[in-house]
Amino acid sequence: MLIRKVKGTRDILPPESRLWAEVEALAYRIFGGFGYEEIRLPVLEPTELFVRSVGEDTDIVSKEMYTFADRKGRSLTLRPEGTAGVARAFIENGLGQRPQPLRLSYLGPMFRYEKMQRGRYRQFAQIGIELLGAATPQADVEVLLALHTFLAELGFEDLVIVLNNLGDPEDRPRFIDGLKRELAPHREQLCGDCQRRWDANPLRILDCKVPRCRELVTGTTPVAEVVSDEARTHVEAVEAGLAALKIPVRRAPRLVRGLDYYLRTVFEVVSPELGEDIVICGGGRYDRLVSDLGGAQVPGIGFAIGEDRLVEVLPEIFRRRVLDRPVVAVLPLGAGAAAPGLALSRDLVAEGLTAPAEVTGRSLKAGLKWASKIGARAVVILGERELTEGKAIVRDLDRGEQETVALDEVPSYLSRLLNRRNT
Ligand code: ATP
Ligand code: MG
Repeated sequence: MLIRKVKGTRDILPPESRLWAEVEALAYRIFGGFGYEEIRLPVLEPTELFVRSVGEDTDIVSKEMYTFADRKGRSLTLRPEGTAGVARAFIENGLGQRPQPLRLSYLGPMFRYEKMQRGRYRQFAQIGIELLGAATPQADVEVLLALHTFLAELGFEDLVIVLNNLGDPEDRPRFIDGLKRELAPHREQLCGDCQRRWDANPLRILDCKVPRCRELVTGTTPVAEVVSDEARTHVEAVEAGLAALKIPVRRAPRLVRGLDYYLRTVFEVVSPELGEDIVICGGGRYDRLVSDLGGAQVPGIGFAIGEDRLVEVLPEIFRRRVLDRPVVAVLPLGAGAAAPGLALSRDLVAEGLTAPAEVTGRSLKAGLKWASKIGARAVVILGERELTEGKAIVRDLDRGEQETVALDEVPSYLSRLLNRRNT
């Protein structure tokens, strides 16, 4: 029997993997530019971490975690998200001693046991940033500015940032009372999950994806209307700050997030292509998370982008730039050309080109066929005769022209040839 990958996991093959690498390189550049430095965290954490931070009654903790006992019977979980681990590491490594606020970024695989559908995997990747130690609206604005800048650099023009005000934890009982009062007459019409949420975590009812539940909640009073003045002022200042930077955001009065630790500012990025059910990014403020986990009172805000979904809807301009990267094939002919062929390959790489060499001993004809199959724009042919003269033949496959070039000039010659083509 053939062994197949675990359901919900994916093999990211080349050249698709190039898109991932370039997206990540851009994330390092942009978020790094705003001062966010990478924190590399374990994939495996104590189960308790997520129960206490994400929340017992959330979908993630109640039904989506990969939890198991290790050989000593300790309960471990494959991380379903990144923020909890960042908060744990912040406390455990005394990062509060460093200059505040602290800007951290992370990327890597997350695991959730979910029903499989488009854009929903059991192992998926997130790219996230967290700003810890700043409670001001400017902090929220900066985080959203970094997000917006990253998405704009990728070439997105149609993504929408939606935002809501969840208020403070103290506002919540009042809001939930009101929500239940308004929904009570329709309670039996809610889905089974929402029946359970009614007592366990009623805020989650607003997050339900069942159409009937969505209809029922549309008429309810938005949470932003019952929050404290401080929370209201905070989020209005965030919106004003974003407007000053010309970052378009839309209020989504019934947006809540699937994790319990958020308060005040919460937001998502929606793509018209994927629809409202498959969001690209989610984030928000979490001023109580670090203290709830036993640390000091350290406010925080951050987001996580779903990399799988992001790559799926990447703008054509970015895809083309990455996928059309020119390849040069190096074709040594005869045993004596093998080592000079690899040496040339190395020199072309040093010039910044992608230049694999033929290593299976193909003839000229078969070698040219191979070159065109791998999408090469040019081939450098190293025949024994050219080599004795210190030369090589460079064939431009796009134009079908060729020229004999001195070996040590081949890198700069090709660089010029391919650059000219790309502009
Ligand atoms: P959703 O509403 O789609 O279930 P979520 O609210 O559970 O998302 P978050 O926990 O906020 O998502 O995670 C942040 C981002 O990670 C999401 O916006 C999404 O892009 C991505 N993500 C979450 N779960 C998955 C998954 N199962 N497969 C792929 N990407 C995911
Ligand atoms: Mg989810």
